[in-house]
This record gives sequence, C-alpha cells and structure tokens, in this order.
Amino acid sequence: MEYPELSLLVDGRWVGRGDRDVRPVIDPATGQPVGELPMATTADLDEACEAAGRAFRSWRETPAYDRYGVLRRAAELLRERADEIGRVTTIEQGKPVGEAIQEVYGAADILDWFAEEGRRVYGRIVPSRRPGVRQLVLRQPVGPVAAFTPWNFPITIPARKIGGALAAGCTMVIKPAEETPATGLALARALVDAGLPPGVLSVVFGDPATVSSHLIRHPQVRKATFTGSTAVGRQIAALAAEGVKRVTLELGGHAPVLVFDDADLDKAAKLAVGAKFRNAGQICIAPTRFLVQEGAFEEFTKRFAAAIDELRLGNGLDPETTLGPLAHDRRPPAMAALVDDAIGRGAELLTGGGPGEQGGYFWQPTLLAGLDPAARVMSEEPFGPLALAVPFTDLEEGLAAANALPYGLASYAFTADRATAYAVSEGIEAGMLAVNHFMLTAPETPFGGVKDSGYGSEGGAEGIEDYLFAKLVSEA
Ligand code: NAD
Repeated sequence: MEYPELSLLVDGRWVGRGDRDVRPVIDPATGQPVGELPMATTADLDEACEAAGRAFRSWRETPAYDRYGVLRRAAELLRERADEIGRVTTIEQGKPVGEAIQEVYGAADILDWFAEEGRRVYGRIVPSRRPGVRQLVLRQPVGPVAAFTPWNFPITIPARKIGGALAAGCTMVIKPAEETPATGLALARALVDAGLPPGVLSVVFGDPATVSSHLIRHPQVRKATFTGSTAVGRQIAALAAEGVKRVTLELGGHAPVLVFDDADLDKAAKLAVGAKFRNAGQICIAPTRFLVQEGAFEEFTKRFAAAIDELRLGNGLDPETTLGPLAHDRRPPAMAALVDDAIGRGAELLTGGGPGEQGGYFWQPTLLAGLDPAARVMSEEPFGPLALAVPFTDLEEGLAAANALPYGLASYAFTADRATAYAVSEGIEAGMLAVNHFMLTAPETPFGGVKDSGYGSEGGAEGIEDYLFAKLVSEA
C-alpha cells in the first residue's frame, strides 16, 4: 500500500497517534479505509498556536530573500515528488491520477509565485503637508493565521494560503480536510525539508467546528482564512468578528456559462466537458448553469451531451479514467436528491442521472434540461458532475439569469461578438469571468468572489495583500 502513515505537525514535530482519537481515511473509489488520522487534542491546538506566535517574531524579521529561498526549495521538492504525492491524492480523494499529478505541479508554481511576490512587498513615501515631515507607509505581516482548507484541491488550496501567508512573513496553523490529510501533510513535509523553521507552519486535524472555533478564538491568532461552503463561511466570519480578526473567505459558487447564438458551439461544448467534469465537478468555479441563447440551444445541448458520453468513469488510478468517484459518502446522496427533485418538477434527463456501478462513491456525468426555476439544483451548488441547460432570449435576459443567484464566484461566456463580451464583462456579478474559454486559475491572477461567494483574493499580487496591513510612520 502506497498510502503513508498520518500525523500532525506541531511546532516542527511530527506527532503520531499516541493516545489520541483517530478517524479513518477512506478511498472513495472502493469505500475502504486506507489510513488512520490522529485528531489533535486541545493541548495540541494550543501548542500549535503558541508556536505560531513565537515563530512569528523571528519569521517576520527573516529577510524576504531568505523566505523566498525556503518557498522556492519547497516548490522544487514538490516537483521531484509529484508522481508519488499525486497517487496519494488519488487514493484519498478519487480524482484521476493525471489530474492529481498536475495539481502538485500547480502547487509548486503557486509557491514559486508567492516566493517571488514576497520580495516585492514595497512600502511608499507620501508627500507631507508640512515641511520637515516624512510620511512612510510600511506594509507588515498581520500575524499568525488560522487556515481551513477543503478536500477538493487538497494541495493547491493549502498552497495558496500557505504561500501567501509565509511569503508575507506570517505564520500559520492549518487544518486541511480530514478526508484528504496525506496530501496536505506532503506539502508541509516539502516545506520542512526545505528548511522552514519550527512553528512557522503547524498542521492539525480534528472535528472541523471544534478546531476552527478553538483556533480562531486563540489570542495568538490574528487572521482566519477558509475555503468551503457559504454556510460554514458564515460561521468562520462570525468567529473572526468576535475577536475583530481579519478573514478571507473563498466560498461556494453556481457558475453561469452564457452561450450566445454566435458562439463557436463545437468549441464551447468540448471545452465545457473538460471544465464541468474535471475533479468530478467538485470545484467551486465549475460551470453549472449553461444559459444558452434560443437559436443555439438544441445544437449546443446535443454536442455537449455527445461529448459527455465519451467520458470514462472509473478508479482514478486507472490511466484510462477521465472521471473519478465523488470524494466522500455524502456526495452521491446529495446528487440523487438534486436530480430526483429536478425530475420530479419536470426536468428532462439528457444523459447520466444515476450512481456508477463501480462500488465506491461514483455518479454518472449528468446533463439536465427543461428545468423548473424552482428546482433545488437551479439555486443550490451541486458540487458534483451535474450540468444544467437553460435557454434565454437576449443579452439582457441572459445577464439577468446569470446574476439571479446570491453567488458570484466564476462566470463564463462564449460569443464571437466583442460588444457582447464587453457588455457581459461590465454587467456580470462575479469575481472572475472567462470569455471563450474556461481557464481562470493561474498563480499570477486574482482568485476570489463577491456576494455569498466570499471576499478577499488568493492569487496574483492581491493574494499576498490579505496577509499584510499598512502602518503609517510620520517622522518630523
Ligand atoms: P461540509 O460543509 O461538511 O465541509 C466542507 C469543508 O468545510 C470540509 O473541508 C470541512 O472539513 C470544512 N468544514 C466544515 N465545517 C467546518 C467548520 N465549522 N470549521 C472549519 N471547517 C469546516 O460539506 P461537504 O459535504 O464536505 O461538502 C459539501 C459542500 O461544501 C459543497 O456543496 C460545497 O458547497 C462546499 N465545498 C466548497 C469547496 C470550495 O472549494 N469552495 C470545497 C469543498 C466543499
């Protein structure tokens, strides 16, 4: 078995089970346990926070160039270990192993980006109104951060948070998802092997609500950052508000795709399959509502359904697989409930619609049309391999439908007309828009949402800002 022994990382020490409680880690392709994860005790959590406070005093003083060196070395180690880490991700998360290995390279690129960006945290000098006074704006790290990351991208999401925080001079206690612990630990190991001092990064696991309330309330912690559902994001924001602590929230989405009559329908349908069903649709920026202009509706849905039927559902370790299982046992019943509700309200099933026959947590890639606006799936994030096709008449109606939900994370449009693309880019209520393709996640570009999808940004130059504050020094 290639699955590693699991531990916590507290103040630079790898902490094994001892007399701690454990919970099993399950392979979603088989439903079988593959490892035992130690749960942090309250003493472990306190020790991690105290260590983050102590380490902050020296890490913030460490020259940005030296912090860069550690992050760059860690990125290189991830690249060397990409095949091994990717297989571990597939075992605990389910995604096809090729996708998992690419995710490790993606995490390495993210660490590289933040390493570089940390060397460009410039202050400024503001001209004074009085002679003899010099006004400096220093940008300083906010302090120890408590981070909470989900199971869908178990290495790139932690890399975004860790990379931004550590490059800025912050320290961090992170709780990766209990479903996918080994991948998060592999990232931490690369950083430790690259020379990260003890306490700068601790990794803990436990009951999510208990751990998050303890860490965010801890007096050493100055900021919380969370990626996950809007419901949990509200709880994290409330906890942070108690202590007037900063918070970054990357929450759910229900991304619209506006396909206009003049779009290249073949290209749109083929690219849509890759974007929708990557990671079995368990992506906060996954395209979900395909809003298709009436003249293109029939042709687009026909091509989309045909392209979906070419997907191969199976164990992610099989190189032929293009669609793996859902990540845990709560997801297939969630898919069934949404599909049954939609069909009960008259929706037409164009393809898929049921569980896979492989034994684990599989769900067939599914396309629904003829949807009642009241169907749950029209407003609830499916977070699975479920796409919706909905017609619209003109630009105004299409934009109104795209903006109708409280979410505002990713959005997409396909059109050959520059004026239409311009109108969508001005009018869409979303943190991100891709026109005529689906690529939105480069280390160099900001990643974040508006409305119920959260606030703050995790990529690009903006990704380090969230870990800094501006200090005015006025010298006479
Ligand atoms: P869930 O709400 O139980 O868990 C989602 C994630 O949040 C998990 O990683 C979990 O460990 C964490 N979490 C839950 N309660 C927490 C708390 N009180 N404090 C800190 N962390 C907490 O749901 P689930 O069944 O695992 O996933 C379902 C929903 O979660 C999806 O429908 C989707 O909306 C959302 N989700 C979003 C993302 C994302 O990338 N934005 C990722 C994973 C899940």
